[in-house]
Amino acid sequence: ARRPAGAKPGIPGIDKIVAVASGKGGVGKSTTAVNLALGLSALGLAVGILDADVYGPSIPRLLGLKEKPKSAGGRTIIPLEAFGLKAMSMGLMVDEETPMIWRGPMVMSALTQMMREVEWGELDVLIVDMPPGTGDAQLTMAQQVPLAGAVIVSTPQDLALIDARKGLAMFQKVEVPLLGIVENMSYFIAPDTGNRYDIFGHGGARDEAERLGVPFLGEVPIEMAIRESSDAGRPVVATDPDGPHAAAYRDIAAKV
Ligand code: ADP
Repeated sequence: ARRPAGAKPGIPGIDKIVAVASGKGGVGKSTTAVNLALGLSALGLAVGILDADVYGPSIPRLLGLKEKPKSAGGRTIIPLEAFGLKAMSMGLMVDEETPMIWRGPMVMSALTQMMREVEWGELDVLIVDMPPGTGDAQLTMAQQVPLAGAVIVSTPQDLALIDARKGLAMFQKVEVPLLGIVENMSYFIAPDTGNRYDIFGHGGARDEAERLGVPFLGEVPIEMAIRESSDAGRPVVATDPDGPHAAAYRDIAAKV
């Protein structure tokens, strides 16, 4: 696809950069980013994941990555690989206990490095796990990264939806196309009785997507297996590829 005039230059070798964003933290943005990346990979694409959440990087934990990436001659960084994905995160460059207290410009230069000085190779899609929120930092980032589009993750809850709406407005402001909304923690099926509970309500994201005229990409239930596999660094799409959750994420990936 041709870039519109005035757009930032892309990254050589990378076909498409897709942001995964949310209005607030804790809604499952990183979990969705990782499983979406694995879903795209399961569809046969070459996929990378970049953790742009420099203040609270969670991609290393989600993918079970611990070692420091190596440098090629001190000039470029070689990304790590996990479950067939190429991965890079600020969390891999500093130890887990080190808090990030950088100012905006440092974050920007770290991000630029992670995009442009990492040997991503040939990728069909680079998924960028954005920091939560829709403040200035996120706006700058959305402006800096040559994005093909953005996916918004929200729970069905009103508050999360209102925040997600801000996220939508933010990407519209920088003219990044919205690829759609995912409703995470959409419902709960009790494993013992099979009864369904709409813990945070249900369907709010679908209604909102319709109202805004953006695609609704799908819903993911709140489920122990998703939480446990994430925390163990073994994401559900990779470790249970025949299970229902892997299927749900592949469906979402097919629409992105
Ligand atoms: P965010 O990136 O929005 O802050 P995370 O992806 O880190 O959110 O998820 C927050 C917590 O919720 C994590 O412990 C994660 O394992 C859990 N989680 C995310 N999505 C689900 C889900 N669908 N079912 C169960 N737990 C989930």
